[in-house]
Amino acid sequence: MASKTYVTTIDERDTKLRLDDISTEPDKGVTREDAEARFGELSAELFGLQDLLWGAKTHSVLIVLQGMDTAGKDGVIKHVAGCLNPRGTNVVSFGVPTKEEQEHDFLWRVHRHAPRKGELALFNRSHYEDVLVVRVNNLVPESLWKERYGHIRDFEELLCEHDTIVLKFFLHISKSEQERRLLDREKDPSTAWKLNVNDWRTREKWRDFQDAYEEVLRRCATPRAPWHIVPADSKWFRNLAVITTTLNTLRPYKKIWQRKLDDMGLRGAAELAEYRRLQPAERGKSGKGDSRKGD
Ligand code: AMP
Ligand code: MG
Repeated sequence: MASKTYVTTIDERDTKLRLDDISTEPDKGVTREDAEARFGELSAELFGLQDLLWGAKTHSVLIVLQGMDTAGKDGVIKHVAGCLNPRGTNVVSFGVPTKEEQEHDFLWRVHRHAPRKGELALFNRSHYEDVLVVRVNNLVPESLWKERYGHIRDFEELLCEHDTIVLKFFLHISKSEQERRLLDREKDPSTAWKLNVNDWRTREKWRDFQDAYEEVLRRCATPRAPWHIVPADSKWFRNLAVITTTLNTLRPYKKIWQRKLDDMGLRGAAELAEYRRLQPAERGKSGKGDSRKGD
């Protein structure tokens, strides 16, 4: 499967895995040139599918992006959201909770951004921070964060029951690639604004974060809300892997959406025919009709 989708998909609870055993590097045999050309083709396909999603309004799509600092969450948003129609696309970033957010349960701030039917939402970080940074930095007692895995599974199941298609991507980079990216930011004046000492502090706890991610992958992967582990050391491969996996997930819905649109078209045409049949005299009076054209 890995060679077809470029990712490692975990769709069952309690799957044994060690992130150290999963490659962060591109598949051998995929060149950057091929990957970028393929990305262009796939982005056109995704744009078309999103149009069907929007018109049919039978489902919504939630894409969750998680990963260590510099793993490429923003890059995926730039490239994948960049090829979508802004109408119907919603990008939400979750940072340190505000006072108001802290005074609610941890899912409160997330649930209100769940996509409505027809919409596609991309989450840059998510409710998973509440079992990642919160766990590693001891921000709440263990007795509290331990309960959250179950709450998260139930929450995602609720979204799925409401016809949300859930994709969760863990952008998997190596520690050495992260160091390279952080140092690059210092060298390049155009990215200096991203410098943040906290990235280095977080990096010191690399192993703790990997452990926390492994537990997330073990406890919160389900058939309807699977995790996809993306080798993310190369940006071009990461983008190809994310768009390929997204399309593999959405393609099976194409027929349903198309059928709904066909039905809507037939219904609209029938209503229009009925309207014309009942009002021939009225229309005759107004004469030539309205010749304005939309797009
Ligand atoms: P960035 O994604 O670089 O803009 O940084 C957002 C910061 O917010 C990261 O350091 C996250 O760990 C932090 N963050 C996100 N969600 C939470 C949370 N629930 N509790 C504490 N910190 C969080
Ligand atoms: Mg950051």
